[in-house]
Amino acid sequence: MSRIKSVEPIVLKIPFSDGSAGTGIMPIKWTSLDYVLVRVETDDGLVGWGDAFAYFCAGAVAAAVRDMVAPVVVGQDASDPAAINDMLQRRLHLHGRYGLTIFAISGLDIALWDIAGKRAGVSVARLIGGRNRETVPAYASLMRYGDAGLVERFSAKAASEGFTDVKLHEITRETIGAGRKGAGAKVRLTTDINCNWSVAETEAIMPFLKEIDLFWLEEPIFPPEDWAALKALGRFGIAISAGENACTAMEFSRLIDAVTYSQPSVTKVGGITEFAKVCDLAAAAGKTVMPHSPYFGPGYWATLQLAAARKEAGLFEYLYITQDAVIDETMPRPERGVLAIPDRPGIGCTPDSKVIERYRVA
Ligand SMILES: [Mg+2]
Repeated sequence: MSRIKSVEPIVLKIPFSDGSAGTGIMPIKWTSLDYVLVRVETDDGLVGWGDAFAYFCAGAVAAAVRDMVAPVVVGQDASDPAAINDMLQRRLHLHGRYGLTIFAISGLDIALWDIAGKRAGVSVARLIGGRNRETVPAYASLMRYGDAGLVERFSAKAASEGFTDVKLHEITRETIGAGRKGAGAKVRLTTDINCNWSVAETEAIMPFLKEIDLFWLEEPIFPPEDWAALKALGRFGIAISAGENACTAMEFSRLIDAVTYSQPSVTKVGGITEFAKVCDLAAAAGKTVMPHSPYFGPGYWATLQLAAARKEAGLFEYLYITQDAVIDETMPRPERGVLAIPDRPGIGCTPDSKVIERYRVA
């Protein structure tokens, strides 16, 4: 038996540029990506890497990994990630089922799957359903520019690079319209409202969104778990999507029926284990999931493995920014809007120690 010897959260902050003012999506101005890498080592010398959702909460999530997750799992058999995940959810339920607790569990889960793949000498996709495809289409997930000229410019740029799908994070008629103008008529265009509208505001803008042929409308209203209101908005004939703020397959069992596209996020939903269960639910309902994956660490690589294994996974979300450094330079990037899926043991990501050293937050 191989046991978990150590669980270490590693906090990084990597600046990025994107041409926007950095405001509107996150609680405060957004200019760098926070990471909580979860490094797990087993007593027989294998190392796995996970990724816990950390944007604007890295210190708290790292503390959850260190103080809540690590003490429960060190010394446990590492071979069954799903069993460890279940045990952690049970032992930690009194800390709150979702949010920071499940982000921390997600990070550990990804690391344990990485180890499981390395032990078997195969990619994680081969452990969770098989390597059913070599590539996955990606969409350019643009930042919120809040300025019609910038939205038009970046939408046009993404389209010219070969992306056939572009997602805006714009929330006004003017800037959403600018996205359509920039992207052109052939690109499938979506927009993510990040819960900024009321139901009445959403209803009022629907005819315009139909007119510009919007592909999906993401998280239009607050709160994001108002499944009944989301379901009712489906009557306008535009696909509604949500799910990046839902955790575990339990929540998705309620969400999946309410929307056209559910959007599990591997670093938030409960890792590869819970994401795969969400795919099972989607398969049973005959639906496609659109993964939430605006990440560039192990969460990116884990999402690619899920996409290889699960035909329910639709488009890969590629955040349209430029970071000062990436965790692993061999990370596949979209070419003409398509991502090649690695087939290395585990999730395939080996963080660069120099990047860790340089961007590590003490
Ligand atoms: Mg979103």
